[in-house]
Amino acid sequence: MARVRWRVTEFPRRLVSRCKALVSWLILLRQTLFYNEFTSYMVGLETAAEPMFWTVDKFSKYFGPIFMILVVCLTTSVVVIFYICLLPHVYQQSLSKTIFHLIFGHWLLVNIVFNYVMAVFTDPGHPPREIPETVSICKKCISPKPPRAHHCSICDKCVLKMDHHCPWINNCVGFYNHRYFFQFCIFMLSGTIYVCVTGVDLFKQHFYGDKYYPFPAVLYPLNMAYDIMYGDHNKPFLGGIAAVPVNSSFNKNHGGQHQPGVDLEVDMRNQHYHTAVVYEFVLCSAVVIALLLLVCWHVRMISLGETNIEVYINRKEVSRLKKLGLVYTNPYHYGFFKNWQIFFGLGKGRTFLKNVLFPSTHTPCGDGLTFPRVPNKGPREDKDRGLMLL
Ligand SMILES: [Zn+2]
Ligand SMILES: [Zn+2]
Repeated sequence: MARVRWRVTEFPRRLVSRCKALVSWLILLRQTLFYNEFTSYMVGLETAAEPMFWTVDKFSKYFGPIFMILVVCLTTSVVVIFYICLLPHVYQQSLSKTIFHLIFGHWLLVNIVFNYVMAVFTDPGHPPREIPETVSICKKCISPKPPRAHHCSICDKCVLKMDHHCPWINNCVGFYNHRYFFQFCIFMLSGTIYVCVTGVDLFKQHFYGDKYYPFPAVLYPLNMAYDIMYGDHNKPFLGGIAAVPVNSSFNKNHGGQHQPGVDLEVDMRNQHYHTAVVYEFVLCSAVVIALLLLVCWHVRMISLGETNIEVYINRKEVSRLKKLGLVYTNPYHYGFFKNWQIFFGLGKGRTFLKNVLFPSTHTPCGDGLTFPRVPNKGPREDKDRGLMLL
């Protein structure tokens, strides 16, 4: 007669071993499906962030025209206020100063407009199907890529000597329009500094009145904070429209005359004037801070013969080769002066005075497809380092 033995105690052990087998099988499945020798946590993070990149790429196209309209409208408003408020203020001081301002201001304005238009409408350059030197294949365009070219996911094209995609010009900054972009930034920075310097007296008068302030006028947020904490609250702080006193000496100094029945009209006119002066200075000083940082970054890159993208590639290469005992040097760094000369496309009868300080449509040196490489001066030569710059 058969005898049944209930081995209840074995059940948990079997369950655990089955679970272990299932887990190891799942790990094996994951590794089989996702194994890649080059996979790292960074790749995983990039993959996870892919939807975010996709959204940025997809919608940046639509933000570009809005940003461009913003640049045009804000620049126009600054120029109009300069003509209406600041220039008459300068004219009251002296005629010779006014003539200087007219010449200098218009020189800046012409350069700003010219370089902006050229940066927007100049094609940055795209590699043709046949190129003299191929360093890689673009996976998106399925076409050969020359040195220093990169694929722009917003334009959906490969761009020669790509620097970055700029929403403010709704265009890529590359081989053929990098000079225009940089010159636009420089002239815009100069223009905004010029407006700030010209309008600082008027701004002080309209923003602070006769109040004491410890910081320079350009640091108006600190002065506002100071006024809130330590200011004399009996005196009006003119940092807002509502603070313009009706029929005060402020109004009389700016064309307002106290006449019964026309108080509102006079006050509104002065309020607009007051707002325009404050807006002009606040906007321009904010642009100065932002552009100063951008220009400094670009000056550093151009001086070292790098583009925005190459800064990160070169940094990675430096640390990678350092681990191998190699010294990496940027093959496109020809020296400070040579870098700037190449960047501005000078030489062959082109001069800084004629072709940089004044509008010029000359094309950059070279074709954007090949770039001479500087021999490595490091202790051990890494002959293939140029190929790293994909
Ligand atoms: Zn491409
Ligand atoms: Zn682009």
